[in-house]
Amino acid sequence: MAQGRAPIIWAGAVMVIAATVLVASGRGPLPVFLVLTTLLITFLLIRESLQEVEAKPAEVDTKNALPIGFGRAMLERMPSALFVITRRGRVTYANQAALELLSNLRIGDHFANLFRAPDFVDAVNLALMEGESRQVSFTVLQDTKRYYEARVGLLPEGSDFGDSVHAIVQIEDRTTDKRAEDMRSDFIANASHELRTPLASILGYIETLRGHAKDDPEAREQFLEIMQKQAQRMQRLVEDLMSLSRIEMNEHVRPSTRCSINEIVADVVGSLRPLEDKHGVKIDLQIDQPFEVLGDRDQISQVFTNLIDNAMKYGAGAGPVTIKLQKDNPRFPGRIGVAVSDNGAGISREHLHRLTERFYRVSVAQSRNKGGTGLGLAIVKHIINRHGGALDIQSTLGKGSTFTVWLEPLPDSVTKNASAQLEVS
Ligand code: ADP
Repeated sequence: MAQGRAPIIWAGAVMVIAATVLVASGRGPLPVFLVLTTLLITFLLIRESLQEVEAKPAEVDTKNALPIGFGRAMLERMPSALFVITRRGRVTYANQAALELLSNLRIGDHFANLFRAPDFVDAVNLALMEGESRQVSFTVLQDTKRYYEARVGLLPEGSDFGDSVHAIVQIEDRTTDKRAEDMRSDFIANASHELRTPLASILGYIETLRGHAKDDPEAREQFLEIMQKQAQRMQRLVEDLMSLSRIEMNEHVRPSTRCSINEIVADVVGSLRPLEDKHGVKIDLQIDQPFEVLGDRDQISQVFTNLIDNAMKYGAGAGPVTIKLQKDNPRFPGRIGVAVSDNGAGISREHLHRLTERFYRVSVAQSRNKGGTGLGLAIVKHIINRHGGALDIQSTLGKGSTFTVWLEPLPDSVTKNASAQLEVS
């Protein structure tokens, strides 16, 4: 017998007994009618209040209703969030991952308060009312925009959670996957755009050369020069894209070869000296204390090539590019920094934290003019990550910029003077 019907039966029995007693005691129909009406109203009031109590959220955590054993342990330890919802829409069970995902979740809450997402609410309602299983994706604006996927199904009557049906909901946080996906598609869009522009220009000039410039040797020479520049730009871009993908492939493998930073930087400076006249800027190499790191020589060369090349490009005609050692910085304890400084126009603050993003440029036109691809600092960042180092960028508008690469020196490679200073930090 259903528990909810007991008060009705009791009230009915009391009314029948009361009516019998009143009729037997010879009272008229009016008192009998009044007594029965009073009893009926009292019964209805009691029933109403009983229903209210039932409708209130169940404060009882039904976790303990589940039999102890493998099933319960598995639900509790599942990495994805799991809820069970009653027919009235109240959360009656939430596993550990669910409580971690929604820190203010209380057993007894209505499910519509878990995520303010109409698609999620509809899916749970459909499962509860029509027994339909569903998979829905939805977004929620918490501290940032988050992406979730919910699988909603029905637990039939008579499960460990009780007599009536329940909805069971599994939630996966897809925010990281979605962001990676967005980054990948942005990257492909950017790379195609960067290649399409020079390609369109080359095709345009070929057309012109075959058309009205066919018999104009001067124009032909000029157009071929432009085409060569565009083809070189495409070549640089393809080379940078390939080196970025190579670096990313082994970014998790720490290099294990001893490399002398002084030698590498000196070699890079030697290879860039021929550009001093072109940019109208001298390189002033001031590294005096030698030190070594565990590294990949070619990759470290690429880091300093990109940084010194940028300093020469963006600091052109404004004093020398200096390369110095830095020590004792409490932000980078135990590390030695190689600082590349220029006296160029500098970079305003709002750009600094985005400079190492692929294709991010303060001025696209300026970067293209100087033969940039927008990938140089992204390559620098990935290589430094692989070496367990850090890149620090300081810049003042109108005064210049300093890009410092902080690396962990091999202790036996640091000279006495340098190690004493490192200990102080
Ligand atoms: P690019 O190929 O455009 O130089 P990078 O990734 O090397 O690409 O640099 C990204 C952007 O950072 C540049 O486009 C430029 O706006 C800015 N930048 C880099 N180095 C400097 C510098 N030394 N001085 C001023 N701006 C710089």
